[in-house]
Amino acid sequence: MNKEKQQTNISELGEFGLIERLTKDIQLKNSSTIKGVGDDAAILDYGNEQIVVSTDLLTEGVHFNLMYVPLKHLGYKAVIVNLSDVCAMNAVPKQIVVSIAVSGKFSVEAIEELYSGIYLACNKYGVDLVGGDTTSSLTGLTISITVLGEVEKEKVVMRNGAKSNDLLCVTGDLGGAYMGLQLLERENEVYKVNRNMQPQLVGYDYILQRQLRPEARIDIVSAFKKLGIKPTSMIDISDGLSSEIHHLCKNSNLGCNVFEDKIPLDFQTKKMAEEMNINPLVAALNGGEDYELLFTIPISDYEKIKNDPDFTIIGHMTEAIEGIHLITTGGSAIPLKAQGWNHGKE
Ligand code: ADP
Ligand code: MG
Repeated sequence: MNKEKQQTNISELGEFGLIERLTKDIQLKNSSTIKGVGDDAAILDYGNEQIVVSTDLLTEGVHFNLMYVPLKHLGYKAVIVNLSDVCAMNAVPKQIVVSIAVSGKFSVEAIEELYSGIYLACNKYGVDLVGGDTTSSLTGLTISITVLGEVEKEKVVMRNGAKSNDLLCVTGDLGGAYMGLQLLERENEVYKVNRNMQPQLVGYDYILQRQLRPEARIDIVSAFKKLGIKPTSMIDISDGLSSEIHHLCKNSNLGCNVFEDKIPLDFQTKKMAEEMNINPLVAALNGGEDYELLFTIPISDYEKIKNDPDFTIIGHMTEAIEGIHLITTGGSAIPLKAQGWNHGKE
């Protein structure tokens, strides 16, 4: 008799399905664990301030390609993606722990270059590097960073607090990081065919910066404080706007209407998209890696944000039964699909 358990392909579950399967039976044992799996960061209670903790893993060939990503930028970005998760809890990042697995192809100087980017981000954001682990790897480079942040108990924002009729808002502009990646990949392909070709990157500094050297919106956490705003829910945009909207809706048990013509796109994002025959809206919805913040506020807070160029209101929350829709410029409502990791991107 075949006693082997049936094996399921990971792609059948996708990233989020896999996480759910691995963590669904967790029973929290400590009263200091306020929030475990399921948000941008876990929330721990050790006194007046709450501590938030988040971790991210980057693997060579999956998350980055060293053909066109300089190691210093990689170090910087690896820190930023973690700080962004802390900001998404309305918290301020304070410490990081960095673990690396390195193969023999890297020199000491190369790893120092990686760390120069890590320290640059730490200095810019006022974060201390307090530990880590170093090990060898058979293939390439893997970086795992864990971040700890602080937030006053009553200020912490999760994904699950949105209410029907709340305004759905986003910071900055979207799709730039994705178009920057498309540009880098295009030029890399050209280079692979002809090593004498110089990359054509002029005029696209903004989208390249969005891809290679993103920033975490810690300034928004301070802005909320100054404006007297506590979002009802918040998430950072790492996987693309539509996926993050789905997370907020699912966790808050709501639906939502998002207006196509309100989604903020930079000029360079649109120009590159046009050049490559890509709909810039698709870059914004499914591209990811913008590390902007998506959040909801009650309508009563509208006056506080309406004149602030950092914020764009892109829609409003509805009852769950109404579903999650994109209202096109033409006025028709189409279901907003969440693209995820299992669709060929991270
Ligand atoms: P983000 O995109 O904000 O980094 P993820 O989608 O990676 O968030 O993770 C969602 C939630 O699942 C988080 O609470 C995270 O800590 C948790 N999580 C992710 N992977 C694992 C895992 N392998 N084991 C336990 N928890 C996990
Ligand atoms: Mg996140």
